Amino acid sequence: MDGNEGDPSSASVNKKKRPAESSGGGEDVDNNSYSPFLKQNYVRLYPDNSTNVEFKVFVESADKKDKLGNKSPIYLNHIFTTDIKGVIGIHRVNANKIAAVFKQSNNANNFITNATFLAKHQLRAYIPAAQIEKTGIIRFVPTNISNKELYNKLSSTSEIIAIRRFTKKVGQERVPLQTVSLTFLSNSLPDHVQYDLFSYRVFDYIPPLQQCFRCFKFNHSAKVCNGKQRCSCCAGEHHYKECSTPDEVRCCNCSGPHLAISKSCPIKLKKIMEKKSKITYASAAASKQLELEVNFPPLPAVNKTQNVNSNKFNNKNVNKSVQSVSNNVNKNKQKGNEPVSQDFSPKAVDLKTQLINNDDLVNVIVSTLIQLGNKSDDNPITTSFIKELLFKNLT
Ligand SMILES: [Zn+2]
Ligand SMILES: [Zn+2]
Ligand SMILES: [Zn+2]
Repeated sequence: MDGNEGDPSSASVNKKKRPAESSGGGEDVDNNSYSPFLKQNYVRLYPDNSTNVEFKVFVESADKKDKLGNKSPIYLNHIFTTDIKGVIGIHRVNANKIAAVFKQSNNANNFITNATFLAKHQLRAYIPAAQIEKTGIIRFVPTNISNKELYNKLSSTSEIIAIRRFTKKVGQERVPLQTVSLTFLSNSLPDHVQYDLFSYRVFDYIPPLQQCFRCFKFNHSAKVCNGKQRCSCCAGEHHYKECSTPDEVRCCNCSGPHLAISKSCPIKLKKIMEKKSKITYASAAASKQLELEVNFPPLPAVNKTQNVNSNKFNNKNVNKSVQSVSNNVNKNKQKGNEPVSQDFSPKAVDLKTQLINNDDLVNVIVSTLIQLGNKSDDNPITTSFIKELLFKNLT
């Protein structure tokens, strides 16, 4: 008998994980060892060695009710061309803000620090984080190490400017997890960070999907929503607190019988997957991690004859299929045969093209990614777990 059934604290363990919210300043952050730790007095400016081709600055009105994004271009052109050096374009980002684009980093930095201009027109200017910062995560960090201690101890090829510990809500409490997010002053993530001799691998951070609490669509917040107020219960055009039919549950995104915020909504699931696969593919392309993770067998010696031309992919024979591609590569080279369908060469890049063009194999990889994305338990997604799942799908 383990007597665990019905324990409310274990029932609520599967809550969404996210790093603790930033307190928005360099002060008061070390009161609690799990509060975000931010570099003191950090001001976001373009570094001298920035690899950007253009330098964007977001501009908003200091008065939140004054919507700069809706101002006339005549007014905006006037104030920017009169007073600001080096600006090569302005465009609307949303109702609240515009972006000013500079060709040179020092002009962008001078604009951000131009207190006279900003005060005169009651504006605030800042560099969007994504332009100069990149956030990654490290795993299996003992929870008895505070964020401040990590900040002081961790070393990396890129400067670390923020450290946030992931937490999980258990009942009313937030419990620290072993995953920590690190924000670097860089456009790309370093492979590793060092804690003395110990090296932590840095993974991409995939932020939670944003859902608007006004229209319940995705990837924007209610603050900038142009959509209509929808009811999260019945999908009607009213706030859920004013709902007269709260028992008739209907999702305003897919019309299914669930709340608009439900994780079982197929549209929400698709959006989550899109987000995950976008980042996964981007990082795979950048670091060639895919080859490492999937660990395809090495090129075998020339010998067997197998048919690569078969479009039908046999799941049980993925290894053979990979082999046969390379066998044909070698065969064609030796005997001077006509290439089977493409110009094969023994380079890995051609093998990769073959793999990419193999729809069945790609489908197996995609469905593995979907399963990883839909995974609802809290077990970490390790390399061996991904491999195991992939191989299970292949057989
Ligand atoms: Zn909205
Ligand atoms: Zn309603
Ligand atoms: Zn739905």
